[in-house]
Amino acid sequence: MQYTMLGRTGEKVSRLGFGAMNLPGQDLEISRRALNYALDHGITYIDTAAAYRNSEEIIGETISHRRQEFFLATKTQKRHYKEAREEIERSLKRMKTDHVDLLQMHYVNYPSEFKELSDVEGALEAAIRAKEEGKVRYIGITGHRPELLAKWLGTGHFDTVLFHMSLVQRFAIDDLVPFCLENNIGMIGMKPLSGGFVQPVEKALRFSYSTDVHVVLSGMKTEEEVKANLAALEMKIDPEEKNELAGLAEVLSAHGCRRCNYCSCPLEIRIPDTMISSIVHRKYGLADKGTRFLEKHQDLYQQCAEYEPCREQPLCQQDCPYHLPIRETVIAAGNELAANKHN
Ligand code: SF4
Ligand code: SF4
Repeated sequence: MQYTMLGRTGEKVSRLGFGAMNLPGQDLEISRRALNYALDHGITYIDTAAAYRNSEEIIGETISHRRQEFFLATKTQKRHYKEAREEIERSLKRMKTDHVDLLQMHYVNYPSEFKELSDVEGALEAAIRAKEEGKVRYIGITGHRPELLAKWLGTGHFDTVLFHMSLVQRFAIDDLVPFCLENNIGMIGMKPLSGGFVQPVEKALRFSYSTDVHVVLSGMKTEEEVKANLAALEMKIDPEEKNELAGLAEVLSAHGCRRCNYCSCPLEIRIPDTMISSIVHRKYGLADKGTRFLEKHQDLYQQCAEYEPCREQPLCQQDCPYHLPIRETVIAAGNELAANKHN
């Protein structure tokens, strides 16, 4: 395992982090084994959030007796002081600890949300108060819009930032990472597999690892998944592989979608997943989750092509901050699937 300093926190953490988002909903013993196996094999960064169902409780149940062995990060999605204070207390109780190492302002994607949480009566003030009381050691922020995150980090309130870093989401490399390097902000790259849509898995993990992010946060559920994550990162990445992976990321991120979810569709087409899986499908063919996803939504893609209100001005595109050709991409995904079926 490689270890690194998490930016200006000065904390030494493992480069691979255990994302505990997917633990809820399975037998507690499976989670217990996965988390303990991770700690036994050098992972020292554990990430969860108050919003991840009972993920915090699982951590409290299974590894709180080893609390001194890991850096514990959680998040609050509350935007106001009182609610955030209450949620921080609840998180500590659930995780059976007297402090978290990192408390992050969770899923901040709109300027209005940032304004709300950084107001005098906002959630950030609650985090600062908790820090003064020793219940929180560092404060961070998470979100899906790298260029906005860079702007908000400029306020100086945050020690770390958590953002997408994967073969299909390489945007932070240009829009956020340079600011973080210059200002010694701790960088945590999440979703190396982009929720299971990216393949091949080993390349996906190794790409995130080859970037400047300090921690690659991978969602894991079982001991087997921990093993697979550890194995993918075993061999060092040489400059040749790094270049190859960077080139692949350029190709697979060409859809341009940041997963910010500003767009919505009256037909309930899952736009970001469609944009991402269609480009992976084009490069690697139909496989796994991306295939199942595209096939399941094929009828909807057909309906998109015929949906009258979107013919002139696609409704989804009006809200996309990156002005992406969403309708065109969705229809193309449907057409390609249909063509594949006939071949
Ligand atoms: S263009 Fe298609 S994806 Fe976009 S809102 Fe209209 S129906 Fe939905
Ligand atoms: S298509 Fe545009 S608005 Fe929708 S999630 Fe992607 S980047 Fe955001």
